[in-house]
Amino acid sequence: MNFDDRINVIKGIGEKTEKVFNKLNIQTVQDLIEHYPRGYEEFQKPIPIAHLREGETCTIEASLVGSPKLKRVRHLRIINVRVKDVSGFLNLTWFNMAFLQKTLRMGIRYIFRGKVVRKNGILVMEQPRIYQKPDYYKLLNVLQPIYPLTEGLTNAAVTKAIRHALADLDFAKDYIPKKIAKEYNLMDRTKAIKEIHFPKDRNIMLKARQRLVFDEFFMYSLTLRHLKEQKTRIKTEYTMKEPVECDQLIKSFPYSLTKAQLRVWQEIKKDLSGDYGMNRLIQGDVGSGKTVLATLSLLMAVKNGYQASMMVPTEVLAKQHYKSITDTLEKFGISICLLVGSMTAKEKREAYEKIKQHKVDIIIGTHALIQEKVEYDQLGLVVTDEQHRFGVKQREALMNKGGQPHVLVMSATPIPRTLAIILYGDLDISIVDELPAERLPIKNCVVGTNYRPNAYRFIESQVSMGRQAYVICPMVEENEEIEAENVIDYTETLKEALAPSITVEYLHGKMKPKEKNAIMERFANGEIDVLVSTTVVEVGVNVPNATVMMIENAQRFGLAQLHQLRGRVGRGEYQSYCIFICNSSSKEAWERLEILNKSNDGFFIAGEDLKLRGPGDIFGIRQSGTMEFKMADIFTDAEYLKAAAEAVKTLSELEVSAIFEENPYLEDKILNQTKTL
Ligand code: ADP
Ligand code: MG
Repeated sequence: MNFDDRINVIKGIGEKTEKVFNKLNIQTVQDLIEHYPRGYEEFQKPIPIAHLREGETCTIEASLVGSPKLKRVRHLRIINVRVKDVSGFLNLTWFNMAFLQKTLRMGIRYIFRGKVVRKNGILVMEQPRIYQKPDYYKLLNVLQPIYPLTEGLTNAAVTKAIRHALADLDFAKDYIPKKIAKEYNLMDRTKAIKEIHFPKDRNIMLKARQRLVFDEFFMYSLTLRHLKEQKTRIKTEYTMKEPVECDQLIKSFPYSLTKAQLRVWQEIKKDLSGDYGMNRLIQGDVGSGKTVLATLSLLMAVKNGYQASMMVPTEVLAKQHYKSITDTLEKFGISICLLVGSMTAKEKREAYEKIKQHKVDIIIGTHALIQEKVEYDQLGLVVTDEQHRFGVKQREALMNKGGQPHVLVMSATPIPRTLAIILYGDLDISIVDELPAERLPIKNCVVGTNYRPNAYRFIESQVSMGRQAYVICPMVEENEEIEAENVIDYTETLKEALAPSITVEYLHGKMKPKEKNAIMERFANGEIDVLVSTTVVEVGVNVPNATVMMIENAQRFGLAQLHQLRGRVGRGEYQSYCIFICNSSSKEAWERLEILNKSNDGFFIAGEDLKLRGPGDIFGIRQSGTMEFKMADIFTDAEYLKAAAEAVKTLSELEVSAIFEENPYLEDKILNQTKTL
């Protein structure tokens, strides 16, 4: 069995199972063995019921006090049973496992293992797994992998598939040169892959993980080196002069640009008027005013006779930029068009035609911009906003559409400069390290669910002053297994809780693009007062009239993501507020959210988050919005990132080509691996 075989070669994977794996983006054997555990379960000896702690997965040894009771709540069938050991009593609950009513019997000592939660003030174990004593004791002291799953796929099924794959796979030669493996004390790759799934103990697992983290960064650095070598010192055919319109535009803004914006604008102008292509990353915290810089750059390109395009990760964002940039640039006689996936075939055809004949100057859109059918005429500048959502590959694809256009990449991800230099090795970096002066700092609070009534009254008062609010829920709709607020039900709750004159609507990722756009447009126009949404509004959305951001189940999100969400308010002249609702009783959860309470600075937050999680917390909450590697975390694994970058630098060109020659599948992998960067 080979790395690039389809997974249906694995024993036990038929057509149906294959489709389920596909949902997780697992196509090949390689995808499967790189589907790493998100953690491990360590089975401990049972503990006394009296020692149980809320929020933890625990094991008890207990017997039934009474017979199991079946209850129906709507479509749910719930089994409740009370058990005891020498130290106390506990209630157990199962959902949709009605058969337990017949199989669980009194007079037997069972082992139950499950999560302990607090319900109506008392501790309950939910959905525990049931073991006979000897079976359970066999599992003690073994690390069992826990995999990311999807509907229709159990952890046991993934575990089995991976076991089979590892047993039958012809592992390729290790591609990291021996001298590097030795210098950095790396485990052999084949061993590392086996041990990460089924580690003998925790230390070996950590060594295996270290190797795989190093691998990802090594490959990444190799990719960048590859790109950079191809790109350096290519003369551009699109040199530009600064047109008078740029200064006119700056003067026409109702505000003056910040010092940081002016400095970065100088850097951009210098690049655009030079002989060599621009390759620049603009980093700036949410709300620092990056769009203005993009707009000025687009204007400069167009007034030099070139086309320019701007690519963003979502349609909502594309529409928003289309509208605001059209408003800003129309007066200069510039024509702008939108190109997004949800347009009809006819609309798209018309757009292609206009682009090809250079009847439009600026094209704003999503991935639709890099479709084969799009032909540009003299594409001189390519801007990508919120760039971490795009792969290097997509960025390249857009570049290739126009000879050697200038490239401007914008990102709000707070990455320390030392790391940014490595991660964006192929780009020059500008930092907008200042927020507009007249901006009032956002006022924050971290509160429990009992604060909700106050929050609703507060939202009402803001709406009565003409402002708008966002309410974020983690889920789209009700889910039996996850206890978290959902957009659909919450919208109903709010409609009842808020004054009837207030318009409440919802937005989530499962809606059709057209529906999403319509809602977003109405919110931007002020026709909707309160928008209940999932994190789809996280990136880039700009409605300066919105002043309240209320986040339900805030403890479920990563700090960087919460910071991005908060960045949706405080974008205009009004005082803005962020209400983080925490419904966990864990001290850590509250401490983590306190960091956001203390500061509105993305760099500070990223740093504190790192301290809190610590390099040991290897499977901590993923930083959404930052670059995602499969295993590595750019913050907690920063040391390896630096080491791998160093290692790649020491390779000679001969050594690099040797790596590619010995591993023919590598080049493809390299281009695919950095998908989300
Ligand atoms: P981001 O950096 O998050 O992309 P935007 O470019 O969307 O931020 O800007 C956020 C808001 O700040 C916009 O409404 C924009 O008009 C406004 N803005 C930009 N620059 C300034 C400035 N120098 N002074 C005041 N407001 C500004
Ligand atoms: Mg933005």
